[in-house]
Amino acid sequence: MDLSIVIPLYNEEESIPELTSWIDQVMKGNGFSYELLYIDDGSKDRSWEVIKQLSVKYEHIKAIRFQRNYGKSAALHVGFQKACGDYVVTMDADLQDNPEEVPEMIRMIREEGYDLVSGWKKVRHDPVLSKNLPSKFYNWTVRRMTSIKLHDMNCGLKAYRKQVIKSIEVYGDMHRFIPVLAKWAGFKKIGEKVVKHQERKYGVTKFGLERFIRGPLDLISVIFITKFGKRPMHFFGIFGTLMFVVGLAATLWVGIQKLLALKHGIHAPLITSNPYFYIALTSMILGSQFFLAGFIADLVTRNSADRNKYMIDEILND
Ligand code: UDP
Ligand code: MG
Repeated sequence: MDLSIVIPLYNEEESIPELTSWIDQVMKGNGFSYELLYIDDGSKDRSWEVIKQLSVKYEHIKAIRFQRNYGKSAALHVGFQKACGDYVVTMDADLQDNPEEVPEMIRMIREEGYDLVSGWKKVRHDPVLSKNLPSKFYNWTVRRMTSIKLHDMNCGLKAYRKQVIKSIEVYGDMHRFIPVLAKWAGFKKIGEKVVKHQERKYGVTKFGLERFIRGPLDLISVIFITKFGKRPMHFFGIFGTLMFVVGLAATLWVGIQKLLALKHGIHAPLITSNPYFYIALTSMILGSQFFLAGFIADLVTRNSADRNKYMIDEILND
């Protein structure tokens, strides 16, 4: 089979029929054999009934329904596990992504050797203040922090070589960072294609204000994992040691000053009334906390099941 099209959806009953026939038309027109994987992420509307009805007419449809809403990442993860096509495409279910972009994206993978091609909604039809601007800022930050030069990291429309999605594990809210995950897994050739974007025709967006809190937190943890995931001690240890040493030196300095003053009979206040004493103390305590955090983090990574999981590309003469 050429293509697996993975579509996570949550309460998109109105869009699914149009989307299904649109995809079918594009795939047939371009001579692709394909499977259409709908992952119903615990929809509360009639999405599942709609999919069931459509699957009678379209034999390409395979579908999975979650017991409850787990989030887009979870839906993608399950879809990726199921996918059997040589190339895998992900798309949003809300008709904002245009299936007609898919053939060109697949061509880029096949002929130009890309591992992953991400859509770029250059002209975007979403609310400017709540979506477009924050997204620009977010993409700019990710570009600066990671070496992946994409303009639209979190575009729902993406195409992958099969090995990519079989090597990565999307969890939590990591669907926002799939290109970063792919890069970690060793897939370097990541490209983008400008795609047409439509306004949401039915239903409402499923990502509200909470993404302003979760997005940045996830970004921090992605950056941290990129840099120190395998050796957390390299981060905490340096900080911890530095703070402890500074604190220790400051405490000694405060103490020696007091002793010198005593020796020369100069009146000096009690050490405990000296503000520097408390700053020095805090620094020492924080330093040892950092150090311990690093140590414990190191023990955790030591025990993680995939500490020695390497994706092997080829083996010769085994
Ligand atoms: N989605 C999902 N589970 C969720 C939230 C969203 O499967 O918990 C799906 C949703 O149905 C859509 C896609 O993820 O197919 C993108 O969501 P949406 O269009 O609401 O995001 P936006 O385009 O507004 O960023
Ligand atoms: Mg959308």
